[in-house]
Amino acid sequence: MGGVEVTAGEGVAVPIGETYPEIRDGVRTLCQDFPGEYWRALDRERAYPTDFVRALTEAGYLAALIPEEYGGSGLPISAAGAVLEEIHQAGCNGAACHAQMYTMGTVLKHGSEAQKQQYLPSIASGELRLQAFAVTEPTTGSDTTNLRTTAVRDGNGYRVNGQKVWISRTEHSDLMVLLARTTSREEVASRRQGLSVFLVDMRSAVGEGLTIRPIRTMINHATTELFFDDLHIPADTLIGEEGRGFDYILDGMNAERILISWESLGDARFFIDRASAYASEREVFGGPIGKNQGVQFPIARAWAQLQAAEMMVRKAAALFEAGKPCGPEANTAKLLASEASWAAAEACLQTHGGFGFAEEYDIERKYREARLYQIAPISTNMILAYIGHKVLGMPRSY
Ligand SMILES: Cc1cc2nc3c(=O)[nH]c(=O)nc-3n(C[C@H](O)[C@H](O)[C@H](O)COP(=O)(O)OP(=O)(O)OC[C@H]3O[C@@H](n4cnc5c(N)ncnc54)[C@H](O)[C@@H]3O)c2cc1C
Repeated sequence: MGGVEVTAGEGVAVPIGETYPEIRDGVRTLCQDFPGEYWRALDRERAYPTDFVRALTEAGYLAALIPEEYGGSGLPISAAGAVLEEIHQAGCNGAACHAQMYTMGTVLKHGSEAQKQQYLPSIASGELRLQAFAVTEPTTGSDTTNLRTTAVRDGNGYRVNGQKVWISRTEHSDLMVLLARTTSREEVASRRQGLSVFLVDMRSAVGEGLTIRPIRTMINHATTELFFDDLHIPADTLIGEEGRGFDYILDGMNAERILISWESLGDARFFIDRASAYASEREVFGGPIGKNQGVQFPIARAWAQLQAAEMMVRKAAALFEAGKPCGPEANTAKLLASEASWAAAEACLQTHGGFGFAEEYDIERKYREARLYQIAPISTNMILAYIGHKVLGMPRSY
């Protein structure tokens, strides 16, 4: 890892300067084979970037976080973040496959040794795809612990009934991590209890009680609705202990938030690069538009926001890598990074004037894509509520 290190609290070092230059160079080179035309064509058709995902898989980038003993590279989260940041800075989109990097964390951290041996090496090689993560439901939304999908013990397994929404990449995944209620809310002391996590093999589930319905959205995201109608899953699909699933999912969410923050940093860099170049080139009224402070300052302000967000992402990652609690930092990183990328997106679109709306500039596509991260995987308000309640000790609104 390059760069100077400054010491943060709790004896954890936060790197500054460029990290993982070799990985970054490799990803930049790979992304050159997937220019704007590639993404525009897929966006029009709402088609999956199969070739891009295959290239990342073959280069080993999606197995960055899987330990070497299970066939992965065993790299820290900031290395995986460098991969995603470069993808987004290059104008590509890692959302098609980022979950292949971290969803396996639930199996790695809470699965049995037999489950790890069975799945992780094939996930590392790309032979098996585990990039679907089913939590959100149509009726309960952000109120996760109130979810209604049930998994009820039945002989040698469980019967799953219920519905999920916005579950991404299910049509491009073999396995799915599913959160369902195994003990009714009335029978548990806290709403967090009684939820369990399962590793569902979708290859055998589809048509046998699981129905997948794609949802067309404002971005090309391969997201879907899921219907469970008496789906039978074997008992050995349970990850960890029955009833402790919510805690397991929370564990994985910090990794997800940190990694997605890096995507937002990459998006911000993409927009700032494009905006500052265009502002310096485009001449109107006999001079470059970028000499006008009304054009220049929003870009400069977005750059400043990016710098601050990047330090927060690095802090969250450093704590995560040191095995320290990092909920406030991971959430704050996601909040600041998604807002920095949005400030940069706004400045970039405005700088391009009418041309920002033209597909061929890729600004309008990236603008739509960057907006997602203020809503998913957790919306800005829920992060602010978390900071208000958990960090600052103010009264809860829910
Ligand atoms: C493209 C896309 C992909 C996604 N992929 C996945 C996936 O793979 N797996 C998965 O499980 N989920 C996924 N999601 C779901 C995503 O995590 C949720 O959309 C998000 O958490 C918000 O939930 P909701 O849409 O139900 O909004 P709601 O919970 O209905 O909230 C709507 C709005 O109200 C606000 N709000 C709600 N309650 C409060 C409150 N108490 N105080 C203040 N504000 C409040 C929210 O912040 C939000 O802005 C995806 C969503 C999208 C759009």
